[in-house]
Amino acid sequence: MLSLPQRFLRSHHFDVTTKCYRPADMKDRLPILDIWVDPVDRELAIDRVRGFLEGNKPCCIFAANPEKNFSVPKDPLLYDVFKKAELLIPDGIGIVLAAKLLYGATLSRVPGVELMMDICHLATEAKKSVFIYGSREAVNKAAVERLQLKYPNLIVAGRSNGYVPESEMPQLIARINDSGADILFLALGSPRQEKWFAAHAPELTQVKVCQGIGGTLDTIAGTVKRAPAIWQKLSIEWLYRLLREPKRVRRQKVLPVFVCKVLIEKILK
Ligand code: UDP
Repeated sequence: MLSLPQRFLRSHHFDVTTKCYRPADMKDRLPILDIWVDPVDRELAIDRVRGFLEGNKPCCIFAANPEKNFSVPKDPLLYDVFKKAELLIPDGIGIVLAAKLLYGATLSRVPGVELMMDICHLATEAKKSVFIYGSREAVNKAAVERLQLKYPNLIVAGRSNGYVPESEMPQLIARINDSGADILFLALGSPRQEKWFAAHAPELTQVKVCQGIGGTLDTIAGTVKRAPAIWQKLSIEWLYRLLREPKRVRRQKVLPVFVCKVLIEKILK
């Protein structure tokens, strides 16, 4: 049973302009330095996805995190597709803290893997089918098998590894369309998956929801271990991943710069 404040936070969001809470359907995207985030929790995010499934074009969901603040603005194509995304989830604690500091907004993290699970659950309930594209062949296959064990009624209309050469892309697009999949999970890593969506969304005739899930199939297949629950609860999953894969430090070195930029923005606001 949710407490009254919890229920309020689930059904309302923080309005940047008026600096007060408004019902959730009056959504406002929050600018975080050079990118944006939608003030949604898991429940609001899945409500949005339910709406996308009723639409007639592919709606995309990408994760907003501090690293993207540096990679997205560098590339006009990426910037455009990211800006136009129908849903930008607060995937990392960095974005949640920045939203708190800049707007006083109380966001809760929506990790991409958790939203993917919610979407799979919704797909089984709504009898919608999924296509899973990305990662190495063995990882993709194992992840699909694990998903089917977890959601026995999940309709997997098709799957493909993420190493399809550009010359074979028309055949892959045809496979995705012919499969009739309503939902496409793109596991190509970032920014490859965002760029793939930018290039191929107009060719997708059946897909209504496309989520960029990065390396999530690796965690589902078990080739990359997700942080234990306590690390997740403390919002230091990123540290766990860094300790296990020190080469990621190259990507995460932007974090201190992100923190400084947010503090400067806060002072100048
Ligand atoms: N990948 C892919 N095709 C490529 C390059 C990468 O399918 O051409 C996959 C790779 O196998 C891995 C994922 O993309 O499963 C990248 O994971 P990473 O954790 O780097 O992505 P992030 O979640 O950080 O965006």
